[in-house]
Amino acid sequence: MVYIKCRDVVAKISDIIDHEASLMTRMRFYGHIMMCKNCRRYFDQFKEVHALAGKVTADDLPPDFEQVMGAVMDEIEGHKDA
Ligand SMILES: [Zn+2]
Repeated sequence: MVYIKCRDVVAKISDIIDHEASLMTRMRFYGHIMMCKNCRRYFDQFKEVHALAGKVTADDLPPDFEQVMGAVMDEIEGHKDA
């Protein structure tokens, strides 16, 4: 898996929030979020802003979130020894 960069996270974040990003984009996005403290904080703030705007709640996750996270975790596990 090719991991995305911080600026790609910023570029994709509204697609993620709006659930318009593809499965692959979400996997890469959440994979980056899990490993990058700065982006994680940015994502949390972004969600809070959208929650305040009434668009989504901070807990609003896509229906396949668990599946996506499972795939992300598999990727991370697989790259541990690399
Ligand atoms: Zn980052």
